[in-house]
Parts: sequence; C-alpha cells; structure tokens
Amino acid sequence: MHEPHQLKVYKFGGASVKDAAAIRNLCHIAREHAAGAPLLIVVSAMGKTTNALEELYHRAHSHLDYGPQLHSLRAFHYAVADELFGPTEAAADEALRALFQELEDQLGALEPGDYDRQYDQVVSFGELLATRIVSRALDAQWLDCRPLVRTDHLWREGRLDWATTEQNIRSAVPPLLPRGPVVTQGFLGGTGSGQTTTLGREGSDFTAAIFAHCLQASSVTIWKDVAGLLNADPKIFDDTVRYPEISYQETIEMAYYGASVIHPKTIKPLAVKRIPLLVKSFLDPTAEGTIIHDCRHDSLPPAFIRKTGQCLVSFESKDLTFISEENLEVIFGALAQVRLKIHLMQNSAISFSVCTDFSAYRLDRLLDMLYEQFTIHYNTGLELYTIKNYDAASIQRLTQGRDLLLEQRTRQTFQFVSRGA
Ligand code: ASP
Ligand code: MG
Repeated sequence: MHEPHQLKVYKFGGASVKDAAAIRNLCHIAREHAAGAPLLIVVSAMGKTTNALEELYHRAHSHLDYGPQLHSLRAFHYAVADELFGPTEAAADEALRALFQELEDQLGALEPGDYDRQYDQVVSFGELLATRIVSRALDAQWLDCRPLVRTDHLWREGRLDWATTEQNIRSAVPPLLPRGPVVTQGFLGGTGSGQTTTLGREGSDFTAAIFAHCLQASSVTIWKDVAGLLNADPKIFDDTVRYPEISYQETIEMAYYGASVIHPKTIKPLAVKRIPLLVKSFLDPTAEGTIIHDCRHDSLPPAFIRKTGQCLVSFESKDLTFISEENLEVIFGALAQVRLKIHLMQNSAISFSVCTDFSAYRLDRLLDMLYEQFTIHYNTGLELYTIKNYDAASIQRLTQGRDLLLEQRTRQTFQFVSRGA
C-alpha cells in the first residue's frame, strides 16, 4: 500500500475542463504523469460556468426570466457528457440528472434578500457538475468536499476552520486513495449545519492547498494554460519570462499584488509544510513549468502586475485638521465593515487616499458612513500597476504615456494608479 505522504494533488481550473477534449487531456495527464502515486484531483467549474451561474442566480433572485440561461447551462454540460460517454449513457447519468433537478428546485425556491447565502447554494453547482463529469470520464472516485472543508458563515468568502477540516480530511481521504484517483470540488466548503459555502472567486487553488496540507502531500501541481509562473500575464504584457523556480515568499507577494496565476491563500498552507507547488501547462505537460518552494534568489527579473476595476477614494478632514490616528481608525473601521480591501494607501497632511476594487454598492455604503466627517472624492475605472523587483528601465517602460494619479515605491516594489487605457 502507498504511504499517504507520496500523495500528489493536482488542480485543474476552468480552462482545463472547458470541453470534452480538455477533459480527455486531463485524463491523459492523470494517468501518465502521476506515475502510479496516490492522486487527489481538485476540479473547478467548466470554462466560464461560474460566471454563467452568477448571472443565472442574479436573474432568478431578481425575478427575471432565467429559463434560457438554465437551458444553456444544461445543454452545455450534456453536450460535453454526450461527447465523452455517448448520448444514451449521458442521458441516463443519474448524478447529472439529480444535480440539475436540485438546481432547478433551488432556483424556484429562492427567498427575497439573503443574497450572499443563497448565492453560495446556487453557484456551487458548477463544481458539482464538473466533478461528476470528470470523475466518470476518469473512472475515479467522486468525493463531496463540502462535509470536509468546514467554514464559518461568511458567505462567498468562507473562512476555514482548520482544526475540523484537518480532522475530517484525514479520516475521509486516506482510505479512498488505494482504490484509485479521487476527484473533488475546488472552491466549495460547508458550514457545521450543512450549508454550502464558497471560498472566494478563483478559490480552487486554495482548496488544493488545503487538502495537500491536511494530508501532507508530496506536491501540488496546478495545471494551467500558461507555461508556468511568468513575470507578467502574457495576455497583457509582451516579452514575458518564466521563473523555473521561485520562493514561496515571492509568490505570495505577487499573488497579493494581483498576479492572477495563483490564488493568494494557496501558498501559506503549503509553505508551512514545505510542500512544493508546481505550475505546469496542460497543453505541454512534459515541459518543465515552475517550482515554487523554499529557495533563495540573488536577483529576479521585474514582475509586472495589473489590477483593473480600481477606484481611488480620498478622505479630507472637513476642518483642515491633519489626518490623525483617530481619523484613520474610523476610515479603516468603515472599510472593513463594507468589506472593501485596501490595495494601496497614502497619507498627506489633510487627506488620506486608498485604492480599492470598485463596487458601487460597497462604495455607497462607505460614503453613507463617512460623509459627515470627511469630504470624500473618488475616481473609478482605474488600474493599479505593481512592479516587483523594479529597476529604472522597467518603471520607464510601464509609466510612459500614462497619467499617474498616485505612485509609491518601497525597496522592492513600485506601484502606481492610473486611468484605464
Ligand atoms: N469556479 C470558481 C471561479 O471561477 C473557482 C475557481 O475557478 O477557482 O471562481
Ligand atoms: Mg474558474
């Protein structure tokens, strides 16, 4: 029997399961590359299914007709299943039928208000459907992660109860591994009372790290449509370079600044157990990719990171007094309450500015809370750029021709906010 510490955890995101050919490729990778080691596979919703479910849910909750959206969701999943299993087998698939029935029942029974809780109950179907299809295609065991990954009631951003989760995973998973690969859902969790939660958009990487941490896996591999961890998103910047290896620390910082390649919460659970994280291309699975582990760097090429949809909010004291610690306490308190995260902040004599994601709803609530005390200005439609390990040339290259609203530099990091292109 295999030792559990030989376990490999593979994570496949939406793009790697977007159609039948992609799922066949996944099966090939799982069979060829895990080399007989025990294997746990974490899967996200197929393609853009989570966005589609968000829209479907929003329509249903707003009492708009959602029939066409539900129909296309069903048609999409059945088309993939038809191609993989043949139409007769797909039509007879009891698990798929039951999931669509359950989804339909949930949508029909939505209650007014309670938006975030019901969002989790509906949007979670993407991962449930994807894992049913993938586990059948691979002839693997399907595991419901929701009774194992225990969170609190912070809907759409469930916070993990590590102790309970670890206990659950350690008792449920090891007995399954000798029987063959196990397929489970990314992104999902559950409360103690059995309601579904989600871990935040793009949270499947984090799920892979949770399982690997709890089971002391030998490695985690995130299979992506890029060649590894690059110093910039090739869809946005040209001349990208791949890091053959990079430290946990550097990766955490890049994820924090918004590099979309790995969910920011993924690294810590792996780093504390020194579990290496491999980022590899599912299009070229034998290529080297990137290994993220304990290592030292003398110098690294500059990394370029862009966050769009940003908003710059400035608070001025109304009586020309300086921004004090007391003022900051009030501002931070309000930001935390409306759940706006600060990506960058700057203080001057009588004003304090923060760059956050733009959300009309959250910003309105913030203004309501603070307008009596401060004069507030804000700009939307902005971009936040970060250059990590900058040099003069990289700053020149990125700032050229841009209208900078705010800039800041520390020893390793140069950041600025500018208007969107
Ligand atoms: N399917 C979820 C999302 O699109 C989780 C993930 O992809 O990691 O946000
Ligand atoms: Mg996804």
